[in-house]
Amino acid sequence: MDYQLELQRAVDAARPLLTTGRVADYIPALGAVDPHAFGLALATVDGEVYGAGDWEVPFSVQSISKLFTLALTLAAGSEGIWHRVGREPSGTPFNSLIQLESEQGIPRNPFINAGAVVVTDHLLTLTGDAGRAVREFLRAESGNPLLDTDPVVAGSEAAHGHRNAALAHFIASYGNLENPVEAVLSHYYAHCAIAASCRDLALAGLFLARHGVRTDGSRLLSRSDAKRINAVLLTCGTYDAAGDFAFRVGLPGKSGVGGGILAIVPGRGTLCAWGPALDRAGNSVGAVAALDAFTTATGWSVF
Ligand code: GLU
Repeated sequence: MDYQLELQRAVDAARPLLTTGRVADYIPALGAVDPHAFGLALATVDGEVYGAGDWEVPFSVQSISKLFTLALTLAAGSEGIWHRVGREPSGTPFNSLIQLESEQGIPRNPFINAGAVVVTDHLLTLTGDAGRAVREFLRAESGNPLLDTDPVVAGSEAAHGHRNAALAHFIASYGNLENPVEAVLSHYYAHCAIAASCRDLALAGLFLARHGVRTDGSRLLSRSDAKRINAVLLTCGTYDAAGDFAFRVGLPGKSGVGGGILAIVPGRGTLCAWGPALDRAGNSVGAVAALDAFTTATGWSVF
């Protein structure tokens, strides 16, 4: 297959749609991004990388970081996290508090904000610095030592984070946090506000395409944990539009309100698309369209 040609075709298919969505501005620092930016990268399991458009421009990874916090937590052998967070789609918006009361402070899955706060809390207990743990992992896997948290975005999130603070306190009221709320939120913002490119993220996600094996050949996760993360990505990784994403793209994936989507093609590689304008569910209009075009043309899907 001519990867470069297929990537370019997918980017061309997405471009006309970019202005049909809206850039997230509930975190003010995200609202300043150019809505016309668009990039797509592909990394193969043997480490080759291809890209088209703005695939080397850093953007705010936001919720894509939740995939890495979960992986690093499971890598430390913390199976017990599954007693503190569920693995069912929530059917509610990513920042919703509504199910926390009926579910006694146990978030529905690790990829909504409530679930990611619980996972970040445990990663903080395990490592002493959850933000740094995610940054260092991304730097190592992408080979990009400059990859870092954007302090302006992190500060903007903290300054406008009433909802995340509310749900963290609510979870704490049920005894489901190990660390003080303020500390957990500051690490949560530190990993959400990491700036990385499509290239960086495609490379960093390869361990999931390699069934748990890192770029240096060491094993991060058991095959079973890699399978489980891919399964939860498929069912819960793209907000409450995971059904539509599976229908159109057919891959496990994680989206973020910065407009990125990292998708895993088990046994083959990863794709990362980025376009800042979002649909109503919070997924990038252009990224979904490009991934749809790519998997439809190439047959690269899990189905
Ligand atoms: N940091 C964002 C928040 O807490 C992440 C949202 C997202 O990308 O889904 O609202």
